[in-house]
Amino acid sequence: MSLDGAYDDDNIFAKILRGEAPCVKVHEDGDVLCFMDIFPQSPGHVLVVPKARARNMLDLDDGALKAAVVQVKRMAKAVKTALDPEGVVVTQFNGAQAGQTVFHIHFHVIPRWRHQPLGRHGGGQADMDELKQQAAKIAAALD
Ligand code: AMP
Repeated sequence: MSLDGAYDDDNIFAKILRGEAPCVKVHEDGDVLCFMDIFPQSPGHVLVVPKARARNMLDLDDGALKAAVVQVKRMAKAVKTALDPEGVVVTQFNGAQAGQTVFHIHFHVIPRWRHQPLGRHGGGQADMDELKQQAAKIAAALD
């Protein structure tokens, strides 16, 4: 999947945004839906998904991008408060060659601990009860 091309309305995040596929939600407002990554690279890995119909950051209009980045910071702070990580990684991939696998714009917020190696991108599926507990803690820590 190159950087250019048509938006696919059947991508998994489009389905989640329409309520046609499940997610473990952390936060929703007019601009973004934030939910737990089901193949987390570390416990507490959250995705911030702009609602705009855009494949990647290059497609996203500046207003929607600004709103999303504010939510990324807010989510990183909530993850810090809820889970007390030693660091927080924020990533965002544009195009398959850059590592993008779901072609709807999104940002990763990934807590890091010194003694916990980073899991493989899109690796093993998480336990749903654990994801729900993490989501509740992070949601409770949102300012
Ligand atoms: P990217 O490679 O940046 O496109 O990342 C896509 C991310 O979406 C990966 O980290 C996947 O683990 C995650 N993912 C894929 N399907 C789902 C899903 N149904 N619910 C939550 N996260 C998902």
